[in-house]
Amino acid sequence: MKKRHGSFLAVALLIAATSSVQAKDICQEKSYEMALRYQQQSAEIAALRLQTYHFAQQRLATILQGKKDHNKLAVVMDLDETILDNSALLVRDMQNCHDYTSWDTWSDWEINGNPTLIPGAKAFIDYANSQNVNVYYVSDRYNENKKYTMQTLTKLGLPQVKDDHVLLYGLSKQQRRDNISKDHQIIMLMGDSLPDVSAQFKNKKDTHYNRDLVKKNAKHFGADWIVFPNASYGAWTKAKLNAWQEK
Ligand SMILES: [Mg+2]
Repeated sequence: MKKRHGSFLAVALLIAATSSVQAKDICQEKSYEMALRYQQQSAEIAALRLQTYHFAQQRLATILQGKKDHNKLAVVMDLDETILDNSALLVRDMQNCHDYTSWDTWSDWEINGNPTLIPGAKAFIDYANSQNVNVYYVSDRYNENKKYTMQTLTKLGLPQVKDDHVLLYGLSKQQRRDNISKDHQIIMLMGDSLPDVSAQFKNKKDTHYNRDLVKKNAKHFGADWIVFPNASYGAWTKAKLNAWQEK
């Protein structure tokens, strides 16, 4: 009997251990994996980013043709997933079955992390800088980590990394844009999230509402609003999917 109990126990432990391994392997956070693979590894996203920055530079050149005093002009750029690729943090957390969208690992990443440049970002910013256009980095990174974010941007060789050109979380993005507009004309806004280009997208509405807003603002996209792909996080993550119902 005792022996049989022992075998039962061994089998039970084996099953428990196996299911614990399986649970770890299939934790809910692993559902982020395919999006992260696209975001970090696909050649297509590299091409898409280069394409977007090339197009933005052509567009900026066209806008500048009609402008005299470039010192009064500003391009407003988001940082994360627009200029900086933070996917290494997201992949680490996902692989540890930790939900990166709780953002409890983000501050440490700002201080100690090593984001890489998104393809095309530096060439575009260098071009704007060469044309004496003001580049404002408007991001919701933590203001208390500003020193580290500025070090990151400087290390990556970006121009205009000055205290008054790196505007982090505190005032809303719109308030920060309004402050820039006091002395400058904002000619282009760039980001991976729609509130990076306009406060009307800063709402708690569903994606239907926001897709409708995109349609209403169609003339801005590719003109003065430039949007980058981000499959790893965003306001859309809880949106319902449509499935084909075959008759
Ligand atoms: Mg961003």
